[in-house]
Amino acid sequence: METGIGALAARYPFLRAGGYGRSAMGRPLQYAAFGVGKGAGIFTAAHHANEWITCAALMAALEGLCARCASGDAAARELYAKARLVFVPLVNPDGAALARGELGGGPYYARASGIASGFPGLPFPEGWKANIEGVDLNLQYPAGWKRARDIKYAQGWDRAAPRDYVGRAPLCAPEARALALLTLRLRPRAALALHSQGGAIYWQYGGSAPPGAEELAARLSAASGYALDSPPPESANAGYKDWIIAKMGVPAFTAECGLGENPLPLTQLGAITGAVAGMCRALAEYCAAA
Ligand SMILES: [Zn+2]
Repeated sequence: METGIGALAARYPFLRAGGYGRSAMGRPLQYAAFGVGKGAGIFTAAHHANEWITCAALMAALEGLCARCASGDAAARELYAKARLVFVPLVNPDGAALARGELGGGPYYARASGIASGFPGLPFPEGWKANIEGVDLNLQYPAGWKRARDIKYAQGWDRAAPRDYVGRAPLCAPEARALALLTLRLRPRAALALHSQGGAIYWQYGGSAPPGAEELAARLSAASGYALDSPPPESANAGYKDWIIAKMGVPAFTAECGLGENPLPLTQLGAITGAVAGMCRALAEYCAAA
């Protein structure tokens, strides 16, 4: 599973490609940065392995933004001048490759297969959400992590698993740690994390949200057609957006894109890309104006 960031940066030289670490298997963790302004924002996709369709949608949305900028579109040019937008389309490259059946064999595949054999109710590899070592990357952030651990352990997710295992400590997974460090360096004014599925946007943590979050959430909802909602209580801690809201005090959102059973079919990619492009634009405009 490749992001295509290098090819996009070659086509649009104003786009800056960079690395921010390595996955558990040693794959480069990549971002693309658009804009030279002060208003930083961050867009992430595919924390969860079998939600890789969000990676394709975020790349397509970024490509659209670059194309508009290159053609002289005034709104895209203004975003370039006023915002600094960092796109992380594939937070979990090892897990996505596994879930897509691209690993085929080798020691990491064998270990994941062994982990999955303890959870026979989950299809393997397409039901895999975690990183390659069986840690759920969206249960890794230091915001209610112990609460998340207690809830998940009580549900039986008390060891490396295809999903829902919080890990032995917050940020112990290299993919989550590297993204947290990148986010801290960037100091974003807002953040969007793409997941699938459900057609919903989560915008609060612990029943509250930073100033401006509610209004921006409404704009994201209007741009995507997704409903504003709250996650189920057992999934309301230790996520990326939870940590940004709690520790950085700026608006952060989880968008559950598309509808159906993960991995969603590629027939939904066009609709999801439209929703993602609209949400990215609304959030970028917020970052540029803040
Ligand atoms: Zn997810």
